Amino acid sequence: MSRFLSDRFSNIEPYTPGEQPKVNNLIKLNTNESPFPPSPKVIEALNNEEISKLNLYSDPDTKDVIDAISKTFGVNSNQVLMGNGSDEILAFAFQAFCDKNNQPCFADITYGFYPVFCELFGLNPEIIPLKDDLSIGVDDYIGKNKPIFIANPNAPTGLALSLTDIEKILDSNKDSVVLIDEAYVDFGAESAVSLVSKYDNLIVSRTFSKSRNLAGARIGFAISNPELITDMCKMKFSFNPYNLNRLSIIAGKESVLDTEYFDRCIAEIISNREYTVNELKKRGFIIPNSKANFIFAKHNTLSGEEYFNELRKRNIVVRYFSKERIKDYVRITIGSKEQMTALIDATDDILKG
Ligand code: PMP
Repeated sequence: MSRFLSDRFSNIEPYTPGEQPKVNNLIKLNTNESPFPPSPKVIEALNNEEISKLNLYSDPDTKDVIDAISKTFGVNSNQVLMGNGSDEILAFAFQAFCDKNNQPCFADITYGFYPVFCELFGLNPEIIPLKDDLSIGVDDYIGKNKPIFIANPNAPTGLALSLTDIEKILDSNKDSVVLIDEAYVDFGAESAVSLVSKYDNLIVSRTFSKSRNLAGARIGFAISNPELITDMCKMKFSFNPYNLNRLSIIAGKESVLDTEYFDRCIAEIISNREYTVNELKKRGFIIPNSKANFIFAKHNTLSGEEYFNELRKRNIVVRYFSKERIKDYVRITIGSKEQMTALIDATDDILKG
């Protein structure tokens, strides 16, 4: 730390992203990326002609990708805001809707960026423990009267709330913003996008990083009512008006339009998830019912840290969190069938150890 850093940030503990190893022979199952390349339509559209226009700024209104999203999701274009990843959408929401009189609340075990945004923006969140089975206790969110942030499915558990439960939370918190972070919703959970026209306090955030195979393009978006979108737009235009670059706007648009490739990739991930869950359960693992592109697994004899280390020795990287409540688990991203078979083989090798 230099002597120039503002006191405001001297104690901040930044988010720690999953490792991005530089070596090639690793099976990388640690950051919930897709194992598949982007849609062929995306690759075709990112041509030399588009690259040669990089001397010009991108469209600050990101119109092309917003038009494609609004058509696909059946909402108006003034109900969509693009972010540089959904992390940026989350940042806009924490910044726009939380302050000392509107302190946010979220689960003790959830996406690790929420508490970091709170530190960054000087907020003091209420932390709501998950139930013993690691699910979100819907009753704990009734009548909170403060901004609520829920990842659905939750990370790193993979457990999802039903739309009925989300609606209960929305109904009882009509005067507070409720943000449903749907980074993983495409892998089998119910989306709250259909509720946006009914609840003027709902923001749904989405990402292209998981189900659309574009983590490296940094594309996220929010769907909400026009007023909340305008508020978050104020954050964007006060911070980085060109938050999506030219190539990402094109990639986002083409990806949304290629529904056939999207459906195929999702189906394969879900099938690989079921395979992996079944195989690991046969070997004594306990796994909450994941609706995401990852699973959260613990073993009755092997500790989470040991499993993580032993997999790593066998060139497989998963994610381990040392936090007390979840230290027995590892989070495993669902990759290709070949990768998941390798994981099972390595697990057999470890267990026979
Ligand atoms: N929400 C959740 C629950 C996540 O796990 C992630 C991925 N780290 C994000 C949001 C952010 O993803 P991105 O910025 O790549 O859209």
